[in-house]
Amino acid sequence: MGRNSEPNSAPFWQQKSLSEMNKEEWESLCDGCGLCCLLKFENIYNKEIYYTDVACRLFDPETCRCSQYSNRSQVVAACVQLTPKNVPLNPGLPATCAYRLIAEGKDLFPWHPLVSGSKNSVHTAKISAKNRVVSEDSLAAGEAEYHVVPWTKDIRSNCKKV
Ligand code: SF4
Ligand code: SF4
Repeated sequence: MGRNSEPNSAPFWQQKSLSEMNKEEWESLCDGCGLCCLLKFENIYNKEIYYTDVACRLFDPETCRCSQYSNRSQVVAACVQLTPKNVPLNPGLPATCAYRLIAEGKDLFPWHPLVSGSKNSVHTAKISAKNRVVSEDSLAAGEAEYHVVPWTKDIRSNCKKV
């Protein structure tokens, strides 16, 4: 067999663009971090995104999953269903998000379940929101802005919700 006819043994996320992935591949790309389910603020001047430790009311902190994934759009109108087209336009996706990484031509991190072989690795690497968030339903109006987490900067002015 000639060199050029050898099958490509690279994993699918290194071979395919987002739009080329099948449904199973697309779903498996989510690392389960839950960071896209957190309330964020955007600085209206420099567009910087700040994460809070406040989660969507459907987010289950113990499983780090949406509690109503299949009908989430009906329950939470603001929940964005990712597509190959809208991933590059979504400022709320963290730099660690697998969809964003692939859209930017980057590889997955070693803690990604597809690389590590364990769904738990995203949690043990402390990338995820598992067990470290509160529900938006538990907060009073205006309280969320005091929940910007330490790895972000102070956003108490010049910011709007995204
Ligand atoms: S940020 Fe990306 S990888 Fe993490 S849960 Fe959301 S869609 Fe999945
Ligand atoms: S509806 Fe579910 S998937 Fe959408 S932001 Fe809320 S918890 Fe996350």
